Amino acid sequence: QPASYDVVVIGSGGAGLTAAIQASELGAKVLIVEKMPIPGGNTLKASVGMNAAETRFQTLKGISDSKELFYQETLAGGQGKNNTVLLHEFVEQAPQAIDWLAERGIVLSDITITGGMSIDRTHRPADASAVGGYLVSGLLKNIQQRPEIEIMTDTSVTGICCQDGQVCGVTLLNAQQESQDISCRSLVVATGGFSANPQMVVHYRPDLAGFVTTNHPGATGSGIALLQTLGAGTVDMGEIQIHPTVEQTTSYLISEAIRGGGAILVSQQGQRFINEMDTRDKVSARIIGLPEKAAWIIFDQQIREHNKATETYIARGFVISAGTPAALAAALAMDTAALQTTLDQYNRVVTHQQADIFGRTTALRQPLDHGPYYAIRIAPGVHHTMGGVTINTRAEVLGQNRQPLAGVFAAGEVVGGIHGGNRIGGNAVADIVIFGRMAGENAAGYALRQQ
Ligand code: ADP
Repeated sequence: QPASYDVVVIGSGGAGLTAAIQASELGAKVLIVEKMPIPGGNTLKASVGMNAAETRFQTLKGISDSKELFYQETLAGGQGKNNTVLLHEFVEQAPQAIDWLAERGIVLSDITITGGMSIDRTHRPADASAVGGYLVSGLLKNIQQRPEIEIMTDTSVTGICCQDGQVCGVTLLNAQQESQDISCRSLVVATGGFSANPQMVVHYRPDLAGFVTTNHPGATGSGIALLQTLGAGTVDMGEIQIHPTVEQTTSYLISEAIRGGGAILVSQQGQRFINEMDTRDKVSARIIGLPEKAAWIIFDQQIREHNKATETYIARGFVISAGTPAALAAALAMDTAALQTTLDQYNRVVTHQQADIFGRTTALRQPLDHGPYYAIRIAPGVHHTMGGVTINTRAEVLGQNRQPLAGVFAAGEVVGGIHGGNRIGGNAVADIVIFGRMAGENAAGYALRQQ
């Protein structure tokens, strides 16, 4: 007799962990299956935060925002290609998702901004550390307190079994290559994206051959393949985001929170070349258009002090620093006068003496004039796959005929359509919590009705 659960969750990133907690709170017995040695998935690498409008943390900081504006800016950032029904649900449920986390000890009370947004709505941990590690450890703490949730790591789901058009279980394969069948009443597929599967990336986007990826090695798109065997439909598979600021020798992501904290991008010629707070697609395209296909992200001591991630960048040896702009220019083999002029011009924009010629109007926090000065060489890398399987607003996976596959739910990066042609920074963490909850709730409901 195979072991039996109400709900099996495939993948232990933010979407899977959230779904498991939500399902168990409704009374379901849950198994989470994770193919990597540790839980957390690519969510562990999420850096900037979680977008939401009309939250209590915004109110506490006196930030006035609206769901409507969040919707419009996400749609514009997504090149108008977003699934508007899912996007509406996303925006509507975002503030509840922030509260849901806070009620479970995961408090995102610091707020910053990302490219394509006009208002500070990216919620972060109060100590300004990266959001991913904080979120995953907080979710895991909740899971440890719930004996009705089991986690198996180092174990892949390699097949889904269906009987009479209804999901009935999964086949597992562990690190010793032993196979095991598990029975379940419903399934949540939360397997993430496919940025770390270069064959699959290049299949959909030949122009991305040779690009590094910021993703963990588990981001191979296996969940999409599993669901396709059940007849799931897919959407937007060619919509693949390259993130503009990736340290190329290690593929390490330099968080958008650094620009959100006031940093600028400068070419090897010592000049700015874009509104750094434009969307990721536009900033990446401009960097690729530079003669070096790379640029420098430049910040000062005040930005370093406000963002803990900078300490990691320094410890990892990414950062070149110098006491003065002239010394920094020399260290970067850059024209000294050009860099000084660039900083002077930018500082006049910050102090409202001058409008920005590139149209930057956000994250103009404080002049870049507190030495030491810092620079990291960056270029774009494959970061997020916006395409994936189709779902409805119950997180049910839809077949190619648009009909739900009975008992099969999906959430997170494995799902396509929400972000359209370009995902806004801070919207992936919102996505995994909002749709993870939805998938967990509906998967539990479905399973418990079958009893
Ligand atoms: P999301 O942000 O959507 O939650 P993540 O990338 O954070 O996605 O997490 C997805 C997780 O799913 C990763 O930890 C990955 O290793 C895991 N995973 C992917 N495919 C499988 C599979 N076939 N079986 C088990 N785990 C899987």
